[in-house]
Amino acid sequence: MYTPPLGKLIQELERLPGIGPKSAQRLAFYILHMPEEEAKALAQAILEARSKIRPCKECFNYTEKEVCEICSDPRRDRSQICVVAEVSDLMAIERMGEYRGLYHVLGGVLSPADGIGPDELTISKLLERVERGGVEEVIIATPPTVEGDVTASYIADLIKPMGVKVTRIALGLPAGGDLDYADPTTILRALEGRREM
Ligand code: ZN
Repeated sequence: MYTPPLGKLIQELERLPGIGPKSAQRLAFYILHMPEEEAKALAQAILEARSKIRPCKECFNYTEKEVCEICSDPRRDRSQICVVAEVSDLMAIERMGEYRGLYHVLGGVLSPADGIGPDELTISKLLERVERGGVEEVIIATPPTVEGDVTASYIADLIKPMGVKVTRIALGLPAGGDLDYADPTTILRALEGRREM
């Protein structure tokens, strides 16, 4: 139906989340009509992001350096670590602009059905960070879903015996569940309303 290079472009775009065949075709046509420079800039941005961005060796946030901007910022409060499932959740909390502690990105939540156990997440690295000392509170901000709750309990059971306070943010399902879609006020309320586990 499509000439091969166009078919290939549509096929690749269709792999993106939330992009069906129709949207893929629309985007492909849009790209074909872009000025050459813009199309090149798009392709370049994808390649550059892929080659330069890597996980922070401390918190697994995306960074160009070994340690991310947040972890290396001396003004951040090192006594608090907020544990999130994905980098998008970290971004949502940062957008709120009130949280001054550090983060830890798990890379997902425990989900035995999908083959995601503790070893698939960055939990052991979180334990290492807590063991190093200086952490007074671990705030768990995994999503308010069954998997998110199971993950929170699993982590709390490992960290509480280390003598560190573990709290869970109070984000209700009506808020959409996803931190990324919650507005800053909702996130602030969820953080302020956190409860000890
Ligand atoms: Zn970091």
